[in-house]
Amino acid sequence: MSTSLSKRDVLKTLGWATVGASISARATAAERTRPWDIIVVGGGNAGLPLAIFASRRGARVLVIEAAGQVGGTLFLSTGQMSAAGTKFQKELGIEDSPQLFYDDVMRISKGTADPDVVRLAVFNSADTADWLFAHGFKPRAGQPVLGSGHDPYSQRRYFWGPEGGMSILKVLEEQLKPEIEKGNVTVLTQTSVTELIQDARTKAIKGVVVQTSDGTSHRYMGGAVALTTGGYCSNKEMFEQIEGVKNFGDTTYPYSQGVGIRLALSAGGYLRGKECHQPLFNAILADDDTPSPLLTRITSDASVRVPWEIFVNADGQRFIREDNATYDQREKALARQSLERCWVVFDSAILDASPPLIRAWSKEQFVEAFGRYPLFYKSETLEGLARAAGIDATGFAATVGQYNAGQAAGRDVLGRTHMPLPIARPPYYAVRIQGYFLLGAAGIAVNKTLQVIDQSGRAIPNLYAAGEMLGFAAFQGQSYCGGMSVTPALTFGRLLGDRLIPLRT
Ligand SMILES: Cc1cc2nc3c(=O)[nH]c(=O)nc-3n(C[C@H](O)[C@H](O)[C@H](O)COP(=O)(O)OP(=O)(O)OC[C@H]3O[C@@H](n4cnc5c(N)ncnc54)[C@H](O)[C@@H]3O)c2cc1C
Repeated sequence: MSTSLSKRDVLKTLGWATVGASISARATAAERTRPWDIIVVGGGNAGLPLAIFASRRGARVLVIEAAGQVGGTLFLSTGQMSAAGTKFQKELGIEDSPQLFYDDVMRISKGTADPDVVRLAVFNSADTADWLFAHGFKPRAGQPVLGSGHDPYSQRRYFWGPEGGMSILKVLEEQLKPEIEKGNVTVLTQTSVTELIQDARTKAIKGVVVQTSDGTSHRYMGGAVALTTGGYCSNKEMFEQIEGVKNFGDTTYPYSQGVGIRLALSAGGYLRGKECHQPLFNAILADDDTPSPLLTRITSDASVRVPWEIFVNADGQRFIREDNATYDQREKALARQSLERCWVVFDSAILDASPPLIRAWSKEQFVEAFGRYPLFYKSETLEGLARAAGIDATGFAATVGQYNAGQAAGRDVLGRTHMPLPIARPPYYAVRIQGYFLLGAAGIAVNKTLQVIDQSGRAIPNLYAAGEMLGFAAFQGQSYCGGMSVTPALTFGRLLGDRLIPLRT
C-alpha cells in the first residue's frame, strides 16, 4: 500500500539542507581518492542503518545512491514491520519471543524460508524495533496486531507508523545526520554503481565503478562493499526472466532495477528462490497497459468482508472457494490462472445488498467506476459481460448457472456456504483483478554473516548484501509473512554496520 506523501513533501520533511555538501551528486577530489572502510551501494531501507551503525563504530563510510535522494522504497512502502520481544510488546503485556516468531514464519512459509536468514532476522528484530521506538518512531493506535494483508501471526507483533515507510525514513534521516556531520559518512546521490572491482586471483572485492548523472565514470576503493540496492520488480525484462511471468503492475520503486543482483552475480554469487514466485491478490490496475499503476484494491479477506460475488478465470471457471480462503490460498490459486488474473462477478441485486467491495470508495464512486475505468465491466447479459471482459462466454454461462443452482439448493460445488443471492438480476458486473508484486521472490544467496557466497558456499571476500536483494523467498519462502521485508532490511543493515563487517583500521 502506498502512502499519501509526495516525494516533494518528503524532501521538505527531511531537511537535508542542514547536512550540506556531504550529501551531493558530486564527490570532491579527496573523496574520490580516499580509501573507504565500507562502500554502501544503495541508500535505502537497509543501506541507511548500515551507514549509521558503521559510522558509530568509527568506520569511514561512502553511501552511493542512484536516485536524487536517499530513502529508496521507503518512499512508497507501507512500512509494516514485525518484531518479537520488543519493549513495546512487554509494556502491553504481550508475551512473545523470537522463537515464537521463527516458528510462525516457518509455519506460514511451510518450512520453505531459509532457516539461517530467518533466525538472524527474527532474533535481532526486537533490537531494531526498540531502536526505532527509542528515536521517536510511534506505531498507529491499536497496534501491534496479529496480521493485515497476509496470513496472521500467533502473537501481536505487527505494526507500522502513521505515514507508512516515511515514519521509518524520518528516524533514519535523523540518525544519519550527526554521522554525516562528524565527517564519517559521505553520501553521493545521482551516482550509480555499475561494476565491482574484483581481484582476479583472490576474487576479493576492492571497490566499485560508478557513473554519475553527467555521464562521467569514477572508481572508489574500499575495505568492504555492501550491496543494498533493493529488488528488481521495476525492471520488467529481468522480472520476467527470473519469475517466468510478466509483471503487469507499476507498483514498485523505479530504481528497483536489480543492479545489485547483477553485480553480485558478476562477482560469483548466485540467485535462489525464484520457485517461490507469488502474486498478491487484490489489485485492480488503472488500465490495460503494461505496466499499469494500481488503481485500487478490493477487500478479499473473508474475515473482514465475506464475498457475495464469485471469482472466475479467463475460462469462466471458478477456481477457489471464495468465502473461506486464506490470503495465501487465494494468492497461490491466482498464480495458477492464465496471466495471473481473474474477475470478480456479481449482479445488480448483489450490488444493492452487499457491503462495499472496495472499502476505500463510496457506493457512488463504485457505481461510477463502471463506464469510467477500463477494467470495470457492465452488461445487460452474461454473454455481453463475458465478451467485454475477455472471459470465455460458454464456460462463464455454465459456471453462473452451476453457482445459481448450488445457491438455490444450498450446496455449492466448491463447498462455499455464504451464498446470499444468485447472480441473476441484470445488469451484470465484473471487475478484473490482477496479480501484482511489491518485491521479488529471488535473491542473492548469503551466509550467516551476510557475505555473498558462490554455489559451493564459499564467501566472496569483502562482499556483503542485505535487504530486498536477498529476495523475499529467503525471509518468507513461498508465502508472504507480514513485515518480513522492511524489518529484516533494517535489521541486516544494522547488523552489518554494527558488527558483521570487520573493520581493518
Ligand atoms: C508499495 C510497497 C509497499 C510495501 N510494503 C511493505 C510492508 O508493509 N512491509 C514489508 O515488510 N515490506 C513492504 N514492501 C517491501 C519493502 O518495502 C522493500 O522490500 C524494502 O523496503 C527494500 O529495502 P532495501 O533497502 O532492500 O531497498 P530500497 O529501500 O529500495 O533501497 C535500495 C536503494 O538502492 C538504490 N540503488 C539501486 N540501484 C543502485 C545502483 N546501481 N547504484 C546506487 N544505488 C542504487 C535505490 O535508488 C534505493 O535507494 C513494500 C514495497 C512496496 C513497493
